[in-house]
Amino acid sequence: MAIVKRVADLLPDIVSWRHGIHAYPEFGFAVHRTSAFVAERLREFGCDQVVTGVGRTGVVGVVTGKRAARNRKPKVIGLRSDLDALPIEEATELPYASKVNGFMHACGHDGHAAMLLGAARYLAETRNFAGTAVLIFEPAEELGTGAQAMLEDGLMERFGIEHVYGMHNLPGLPIGAFSIRQGPVMAATDSIEVKIEGRGGHPGMPHQCIDAILVAAQLIMALQQVVAQNVNPLEPAAISFHQLQSGGSQRVIPEVAELRGSMRTLTPEVRQLVKKRVSEIVAGIALVTGAKIDLKIESSDAVVFNHAMQTELAIRAAKDVAGEDNVLETPPVLGGEDFSYLAEARPGAFIWCGNGDSAGLHHAAYDFSDEAIPYGTSFWIKLVENTLAA
Ligand SMILES: [Zn+2]
Ligand SMILES: [Zn+2]
Repeated sequence: MAIVKRVADLLPDIVSWRHGIHAYPEFGFAVHRTSAFVAERLREFGCDQVVTGVGRTGVVGVVTGKRAARNRKPKVIGLRSDLDALPIEEATELPYASKVNGFMHACGHDGHAAMLLGAARYLAETRNFAGTAVLIFEPAEELGTGAQAMLEDGLMERFGIEHVYGMHNLPGLPIGAFSIRQGPVMAATDSIEVKIEGRGGHPGMPHQCIDAILVAAQLIMALQQVVAQNVNPLEPAAISFHQLQSGGSQRVIPEVAELRGSMRTLTPEVRQLVKKRVSEIVAGIALVTGAKIDLKIESSDAVVFNHAMQTELAIRAAKDVAGEDNVLETPPVLGGEDFSYLAEARPGAFIWCGNGDSAGLHHAAYDFSDEAIPYGTSFWIKLVENTLAA
């Protein structure tokens, strides 16, 4: 194991930045306080360029190494962290717990931002590489739109980024371990929105009504068969519902219901099949129940695809930090990540960094582990120094 030595000195600062960001979670593009904090630190470290307002509230820091590249044009790589929190009420008793009602850093983006800041400080101080590291701090990852907003603002072209890397913490993976594989690693995510219009009425006269809740229940059950029966069991896919709204009174059969969920797949073929079956089943339930059902399927994240060369480089950096045995190859997961759009724009790789035995991502009891910081920060540093070696 080879944590970069200087990172140990920087650790107290990185931890305090993390706790500061954690206490004031911000959602979506409204990450004003967090981006201002990040931009201030990057300027303080002496980055060559600090650009704010990229993709509305994103921040980009640029650090060019002091070494000369031998016989080639110096390379430019992008390292991406996210900044945003989630609309979840924090259920930890931590001294630095969220001070904002209803919001918390339940996905560890506080840790990601702090780790990349730590790497920025080291890189700006030592500059022991030939080329340029572009530090990307992205808003609105949880909305699935932050990366696209930064791309539309010319992220890749303005900063000349040639390769791009992302890192996310993973509960259940031991602290000090990394996990990565080539090919698809995270799912294409499509949101499903269903509006059911039945006929309300007296609960004693159901024959005169079309009960919107009953229709919703039938739909939820019927749609389970897409994954269970239509998709090849050797191909990953998931359909889940996260919101059901209906009814207003104990004594009335509700007329309308709204249902929201998502479908997640790893290949274009399965994605197409699932979309088609969901539409057919919704139409079938409408026919059977007599309800009017509107279905909207909207794409959120694309598949995160790890390119071969960038995956190799990330594995090498992770092994330098964690040792040969602590860099694992785990199967893809069906979470979504808008890093997918960055890795569509430029070849890239996405790596998991162990968060140990914590509560799961998006859980009210989750907390990013400060013990993961030396590993994640050292990974970024090694990645830059290895990839941009003279
Ligand atoms: Zn998340
Ligand atoms: Zn996340």
